[in-house]
Amino acid sequence: MTQKLTAIVAGGGIGGLATAAALAQRGWDVTVYERQDALRAVGAGIYIWENGLRVLEALGAYEEATSGAFRGTHFEQRDAQGNIIESAPIEADKRLLTVPRSTLLDALKNACLRAGVRIVTHAEVIGATSRGELLFPNNEVVQADLAVGVDGIWSKVRASLGLELLHEQTREGALRTMIPAEPGDFGPNDVGKYIECWNGLRRFLITPVSEHETYLALTCPHDDKDARSMPVNKELWAKDFPQWKHLIDRIGSAPVNWGVYSVTRCHAWSAGRTAIVGDAAHAQTPNLGQGGGMAMQNGLSLAVHLEGISDKRDIPDALERWEATERELTEHCQRWASLYGEVTYLPDEIRNRVMRGAMSDPWVAAQVFRAANHTPTGTK
Ligand SMILES: Cc1cc2nc3c(=O)[nH]c(=O)nc-3n(C[C@H](O)[C@H](O)[C@H](O)COP(=O)(O)OP(=O)(O)OC[C@H]3O[C@@H](n4cnc5c(N)ncnc54)[C@H](O)[C@@H]3O)c2cc1C
Repeated sequence: MTQKLTAIVAGGGIGGLATAAALAQRGWDVTVYERQDALRAVGAGIYIWENGLRVLEALGAYEEATSGAFRGTHFEQRDAQGNIIESAPIEADKRLLTVPRSTLLDALKNACLRAGVRIVTHAEVIGATSRGELLFPNNEVVQADLAVGVDGIWSKVRASLGLELLHEQTREGALRTMIPAEPGDFGPNDVGKYIECWNGLRRFLITPVSEHETYLALTCPHDDKDARSMPVNKELWAKDFPQWKHLIDRIGSAPVNWGVYSVTRCHAWSAGRTAIVGDAAHAQTPNLGQGGGMAMQNGLSLAVHLEGISDKRDIPDALERWEATERELTEHCQRWASLYGEVTYLPDEIRNRVMRGAMSDPWVAAQVFRAANHTPTGTK
């Protein structure tokens, strides 16, 4: 009987769990090491586009992840007075669902457990080697045929392998939280939509994620201390976005999380038998809602590229083929997410014109939605 190949994964976030489930479903013996004392999602809600939904289907996590999800009909940009700058209908054959992050993480965790993945919490990885090793405090080393660093933007695995080309923190960040949904929250022109409102350098994004909860993202530059303060300065935000005061007033029942955006780029996504996936390898600004989708998609693809391997000496070449397949689209997404963010710094009136012009251009729309329209490796 041939022995199962073994994989160890640093990080039990969206990307780590997707990678672990995909490997285990292909016969690998997989252990995930997560530094928190439990698997815990940070950041309230999440947009999952068609590509990410296809990955969830392939992992057998779709039903659970999307149970009770919200499916919007339009993505709408509005100015500070509530006028519509641009209203993009979401095509019926291109799914976009929004869910609480905790629901997505639970669904991925359960897919892992069904496939036999071991999840070890309270386990901080402090480094890695190209020999498939993860390093832990007290000189503890765990070795496997394959190691994968899916340990987020400050990845220790990436750093210790010397793979980093760039880790840039952008000027913008967001306060993210959930509020309870109430009847009458949305007027007749608002129902069923994702709505992003702009006022100077501040933005207010409203995302229903279920019948009971709405995810709010309050975006501003990190040096806008009044706007990014915690507890949230509700008076300030309600003054900037008065038509949404009723939602802003409800902030406070759930945790609020502040974070600036990161962009990471690496000269390679692997060294020897150790790979990096997700934000560790290719973090992007959240403007296209694709960072999580890319993390899951590239995690599944990694497992597909390792399918059929029985000798660990073949792993490094398979990892190079995986990167060659996925890197171009991932970097396209990173570029366009950053470009989209640049409109923030235009004066309001110019921004409105640029947005209207750009998004009505089919070529621009095709670039922005290229990842969403892509059929990920390993999905039908
Ligand atoms: C404001 C904002 C909004 C976003 N909105 C969307 C969206 O709508 N749709 C979308 O697809 N993406 C979105 N993203 C991006 C998305 O959140 C990330 O791309 C995604 O979470 C990346 O997954 P990951 O598993 O690579 O990293 P993470 O989700 O960061 O998970 C990393 C995991 O590793 C653990 N860890 C870290 N260090 C160690 C260590 N040393 N040892 C062990 N464990 C460790 C962490 O605790 C965590 O559990 C958004 C991002 C931001 C900032």
